[in-house]
Amino acid sequence: MSSTSSARQKFQALPGTRDLLSPTSERMRALVNTFADEAERAGFGQIVSPMFEDLGVFTRLGESTDVVTKELYDFEDNGGRRIALRPEFTASVCRAYAQERPLTPWKAWYAGPAFRQEKAQKGRYRQFDQVGAEVIGSHDPDLDTELVALADRFYRRLGLRSVTLLLNTLGDAADRPRYLDALRAHFNANLDALTEQSRITLEKNPLRVLDSKRPPDAELIAAAPVITDFLSVEAGAAFERVQQGLTALEVPFTLAPRLVRGLDYYTRTTFEFAGTGLEAAQNAVGGGGRYDGLVADLGGPEDPGVGFALGVDRTLMACDADGVFDAPNPTVDVWIVAVTDGTEGLELAEELRRAGVSVDRAFDGRSMKAQMKAANRSGAPLAVIVGEDELAADSVSLRPMRRADGHSGSEQTVIPRDQMVTRVKELLAR
Ligand code: AMP
Repeated sequence: MSSTSSARQKFQALPGTRDLLSPTSERMRALVNTFADEAERAGFGQIVSPMFEDLGVFTRLGESTDVVTKELYDFEDNGGRRIALRPEFTASVCRAYAQERPLTPWKAWYAGPAFRQEKAQKGRYRQFDQVGAEVIGSHDPDLDTELVALADRFYRRLGLRSVTLLLNTLGDAADRPRYLDALRAHFNANLDALTEQSRITLEKNPLRVLDSKRPPDAELIAAAPVITDFLSVEAGAAFERVQQGLTALEVPFTLAPRLVRGLDYYTRTTFEFAGTGLEAAQNAVGGGGRYDGLVADLGGPEDPGVGFALGVDRTLMACDADGVFDAPNPTVDVWIVAVTDGTEGLELAEELRRAGVSVDRAFDGRSMKAQMKAANRSGAPLAVIVGEDELAADSVSLRPMRRADGHSGSEQTVIPRDQMVTRVKELLAR
């Protein structure tokens, strides 16, 4: 026996997760398609990687990052393996590269959901979508420039204006110890001015203190030493080259000498796209940079990588703030109005769909009046009507619908049924 309705549990999507219904879902797909198009024009091929991996793939991202220490969704599977849902894509892309060894430089783009157990709030979800691109196997700083330019073209194509590119370098691994010492000395001399959380971060990785968005830390961070004073000649030259490249391509950027990124693996170029129309806590619409060592740590060669990930939801919020890239208005081309007892409604819809025309119709044996109302509401430019008269004469009626421009759709015509597809296509082409 089925349970009574009072005993049934009512489920809701979990905190930090959402259902995207049409047309929001189509807007997201359009954004991903736009990104895919730009990436493929630039010679990137798509990678579809698993949504979960061995936990170790992600712990390699860094012991001092929140993403790893607090936010991973991890569990044990039936085989006793420690598994985690991906919190981002870079580690999976590096793992795939180490495993598959494609020709270098390997250029891969991706799109899909990532998972982090964060405190859910506006623009911060537990399942969120990213699009991104990575290049593995080359040190050439022109690739850094090309990646930034790809993201920039993508934003431009969406129509976004209020996004600022913040650019920095983190130097080479060998530049780091002296800089870390200087940071440690700076923060330790002013420990009282740091939040408790930042003091803990300082113990693990002083660089990550710079990433604190907590207001009380801001003043001390603004006074911290900058990496550019500690760069090797090579790292300095590479950073110069990236800036020259961006200038040559007329991609505007702002130098942000205290910008660091989430991963412990970042070296040299780092960047972030900030949505200037968004609240500070959620204004990072995307970011990326160079990383060394991650591929090797995942069992591959000592090959460097560079890439970025853009948050789809945040990008759409930035679009909202700019009033661009509206949700599409999906309508079908033809609405079938069938008031016969037979299968005409089914058949006409199928015939048109097989001919490549988008079609919908009403169900549940509605009256002519109700169906015409539905046709109007649908926004379809054309109705195909079949009633008993049309059926008897083996015909259908075509009625152009009232359009948004006020053009009235009164001139209904009766045509032989076997001409329907041709005539419908002619009318739609006008
Ligand atoms: P990250 O790897 O943290 O730099 O994330 C890259 C981008 O993904 C960010 O700039 C955001 O746009 C987006 N993002 C990260 N975490 C979340 C989240 N919890 N909810 C929504 N978007 C996120």
